[in-house]
Amino acid sequence: MSEVMSDAGTSTDTHCPYCALQCGMRLRPNAEAAGGLEIVPRTAFPVNRGALCGKGQTANEVLASGARLTEPLVRRVRGGELTPATWEEALDRIAAGLSRTRARYGPDAVGVFGGGGLTNEKAYTLGKFTRLVLGSSQIDYNGRFCMSSAAAAGTKAFGVDRGLPFPMEDIPRTGCVILVGSNLGDTMPPALRYFTELRENGGTLIVIDPRRTKTAEQADLHLAPRPGTDLALALGMLHLVVAEGRTDEAFIAARTSGWEEARAAAMAHWPELVERITGVPVPELRRAVRMFCEPDAAMVLTARGPEQQAKGTDTVGAWINLCLATGRAGRPLSGYGCLTGQGNGQGGREHGLKADQLPGYRMLADPAAREHVARVWGVDPDVLPAPGRSAYELLDALGRDTPDGVRALLLMASNPVVSAPRAAHVEERMRSLEFLAVCDVVLSESAALADVVLPVTQWAEETGTMTNLEGRVLLRRKAADPPAGCRSDLEVLHALAGRLGWEKGFPTDPEEVFDELRRASAGGKADYSGITYRRIAEEDGVFWPCPEPPSPGATAPSDDPSNDHSATPHPGTPRMFLDRFAPPDGRARFTPVTHRPSAEEPTAEYPVLLTTGRVLAQYQSGAQTRRVARLNAAEPGPFVQLPPRLAERLGAAEGDRLAVISRRGRAVAPARISRDIRPDTVFMPFHWPGEGRANTLTNPALDPTSRMPEFKVCAVRVELAETAPGPETGATTGTT
Ligand code: SF4
Repeated sequence: MSEVMSDAGTSTDTHCPYCALQCGMRLRPNAEAAGGLEIVPRTAFPVNRGALCGKGQTANEVLASGARLTEPLVRRVRGGELTPATWEEALDRIAAGLSRTRARYGPDAVGVFGGGGLTNEKAYTLGKFTRLVLGSSQIDYNGRFCMSSAAAAGTKAFGVDRGLPFPMEDIPRTGCVILVGSNLGDTMPPALRYFTELRENGGTLIVIDPRRTKTAEQADLHLAPRPGTDLALALGMLHLVVAEGRTDEAFIAARTSGWEEARAAAMAHWPELVERITGVPVPELRRAVRMFCEPDAAMVLTARGPEQQAKGTDTVGAWINLCLATGRAGRPLSGYGCLTGQGNGQGGREHGLKADQLPGYRMLADPAAREHVARVWGVDPDVLPAPGRSAYELLDALGRDTPDGVRALLLMASNPVVSAPRAAHVEERMRSLEFLAVCDVVLSESAALADVVLPVTQWAEETGTMTNLEGRVLLRRKAADPPAGCRSDLEVLHALAGRLGWEKGFPTDPEEVFDELRRASAGGKADYSGITYRRIAEEDGVFWPCPEPPSPGATAPSDDPSNDHSATPHPGTPRMFLDRFAPPDGRARFTPVTHRPSAEEPTAEYPVLLTTGRVLAQYQSGAQTRRVARLNAAEPGPFVQLPPRLAERLGAAEGDRLAVISRRGRAVAPARISRDIRPDTVFMPFHWPGEGRANTLTNPALDPTSRMPEFKVCAVRVELAETAPGPETGATTGTT
């Protein structure tokens, strides 16, 4: 291990285990604190300057949770109980289960599902393990559910996808920010200060959300469109931009292509039509356009609201079109960005967890990309499988007795029983698998279904890199020893690879893995080759792309911008696109897009729209945060937020149990009556299993490009439920 590592006897500078803000924190040994580590502010890290939300403040409690797995579990008899086993037995059983399935049905009958919380090193190794050791194309991860629509739209428009193409510190210095479908006041509270500072500096904030959230309360203008209509809203704004002569013709001519088609598509969305579709009055639309266009610089930031739709890619494309038409991209303090949700959602797909991608953001279908990565891996490019299925499609194929069914699954750091759309169906698919192995820190609802469960190390017990929402590569350092009985995911993959005939190529030292990752990414869009553990430690993060400069005297192509032959380290790239966009001609692309309805619109039987999201005190499927007493006390269970008029129609009072019913199932949770939500919409948070599981209801209709499911809008009806809890469709075995 490198000498930049802190040892466990002193304070260790590291980062929060949860969301993509990756707040800096310091861990100080303290026998009185949970997990023997006290969390203290680290004000020098620029992104959060010491601030942490409740999840970060209590992250050490998960280390010491009584729910922690500390020995492997195996199910020796089908339908029997999970019982303790040795590591040798558990690993042997997994290797036998995977190879038996492969021998009987072929390599694609074995699937792998990863998580957006895995470090870059783990994501890289899991992708390599799947494609080389298993020879399977069937790998994807829950990061697909996080920001794949923004990734697809960003790639189309700019030629490369990095969540934010600028650092967060630029936000307070721009003139206006449109925040679309993000409630960062709850999801990443320390980020709220950037928007407070923006307003203190005279800038303005527009929040677009069907609910008046904590974030919307901060806004100068809050627009509350019907769920599923953000695309029409963006098109209506672009229509007004054109009609009011606010386009930046010089920028369009010099730095973009495809404007005429995009312009024609937008002009079909006149403001009155947009008001009818979205419910946003025309004067508010005009005001938003004025606020966005009048300052010299402005930004649009999207999150899951517009992205988790079956038209998410087009919706983000429409917001990017607005930026391009007004010259608010590729310039200082202006641009489009996506606020990534999961801790390493960005790095996961950059390094091979996505079904169609190889390390360095190379595409698996590209022969040159296959050639490069195969060379680093020491194999023939023909060995690499073709692109596989997207996350929901993979989950839907589990256990199917068909030639393309996935019969065995290795699941790492993900809990699809709670977090996948149409979750009761996904749970049923997982139950039909011939073999399921899960690596996790607790017995999540998904792990509880497994044939073998491996207890793995987490966060402060291991070292690895994460790539935050700004594209800043960070080092999470080991600060404590794991409980006896736990091993790291890298050790697990090393041991499994060895049992399956790969003695070499799967190291357990994260820095050794990172050095290989750097070589595999060299020359790719997400080029990490110039980033080292030492540099990250010294600079507190390095932004990709960061190519390694050619060694002195080396010959590089004359048009290669890094061809200075000086061996001066590349500084990293905090701000992208200032000179040129990434397509070969250097121009950003407009995409002609038009509004279309959601996959499910309200009907007489299902007259209300359901939207889902997160709350302040819980994170994703809750596998970790539901184990923290303080977080559970703050937000102990699911609820249905509904408007007063709907409550009145139902005869429902605050706290009454409500049944929310969609075409996929029924969920039951107490009522929270609120004026802060549109009259045609209800909201449920998605962190819990059991009868209140919101994802029992959600629609797996997929975006045709990004394959993102439509989590954010489906049609439901709401009824008063019986007062005592009863058996419900899709109820699961909760572990908390
Ligand atoms: Fe952790 Fe995100 Fe909270 Fe920061 S905002 S402390 S990274 S959960």
